[in-house]
Amino acid sequence: MKQGTATVVKHTGSHYLLSELPAWDLFPAVVRGRIRLKESSNTNPIAVGDVVDYSVDEAAAGAEGADVMATIDAIHPRRNYIIRRSTNLSREAHIIAANLDCVWLIVTMQFPEVKLPFVDRFLVTCEAYGVPVNIVVNKRDIDDEYSMALLKVFKEIYADQAGYNVLEVSAITGENIDTVREACKGRINMFSGVSGVGKSSLIKAIDPKLEGIRVGEISLAHLQGKHTTTFYEMHPISTGGFIIDTPGIRSFGLIDFKKEELSTYFPEMLAVMDDCRFMPCTHTHEPGCAVKAAVEDGRIAPERYNSYLGMLEDQTKYR
Ligand code: GDP
Ligand code: ZN
Repeated sequence: MKQGTATVVKHTGSHYLLSELPAWDLFPAVVRGRIRLKESSNTNPIAVGDVVDYSVDEAAAGAEGADVMATIDAIHPRRNYIIRRSTNLSREAHIIAANLDCVWLIVTMQFPEVKLPFVDRFLVTCEAYGVPVNIVVNKRDIDDEYSMALLKVFKEIYADQAGYNVLEVSAITGENIDTVREACKGRINMFSGVSGVGKSSLIKAIDPKLEGIRVGEISLAHLQGKHTTTFYEMHPISTGGFIIDTPGIRSFGLIDFKKEELSTYFPEMLAVMDDCRFMPCTHTHEPGCAVKAAVEDGRIAPERYNSYLGMLEDQTKYR
């Protein structure tokens, strides 16, 4: 019996593919019987990025050839994970990826025009999951006055005030693509962005071999009701590191947060909230609120504060 530790790089529906990263040497594995899990409400207990202990019966492998299945015996504790909910109301959660080193949120100033409330929701989700996130502004080659004005405001809010890494790139001219490629090395990266921002172009610019990686949607109607399940997959980047593509943002169901927690997911609010007179403070109606003071004197962007209020309201509605 051979035993080892490997990372889940793909889930096909019937089995998992594992590799002992950073080596890319895939072999199939299944779960036999029950695996003890902490997150019992999750419908797929094992996700891409999970580190698992496996065992394989080498005697059987010798007899049947290379295709003998390994058995997944245990899942290592996750550093972080990203969950998808079918709807805001849904209690049913689905872990789509685990142990991410970096999430890259790709946006464009125009074509399509960036939607700040969406960006904020995405960033809050990453913060809540404990996943480091970088923002990539693609289509930097489009440099008309309007785009440049938007970019200036965008950088003020997200880089200067919120403290995120904002990289300006162009998948078309290749500007700064080497920076992204370099930053992906030795890491498990997830690329996300609404359709049209140039996610496919960017992934291809990072590594032409990755052209055409698309997330597959497989209907499991016959297995579990009307669900369509999206299977996420990890791909190796030729120059080092791994990439998980996501079909779009819908995948990121809003997290379930406590009202008083929400502001801690806005770094520029977290930085000042210790000075609020009341603890906890929702930063809405309380007197002596340091967050509201920071909004008033321009240290926190009104756009960010409005996103915060919108998310608070949604949370109340859906609870
Ligand atoms: P996806 O939907 O996010 O995967 O976007 P695509 O990669 O399919 O790109 C959408 C459109 O934007 C295509 O017409 C691309 O040629 C174009 N595009 C992608 N990157 C850039 C860029 O850096 N600059 C410009 N001007 N266009 C781009
Ligand atoms: Zn406050």
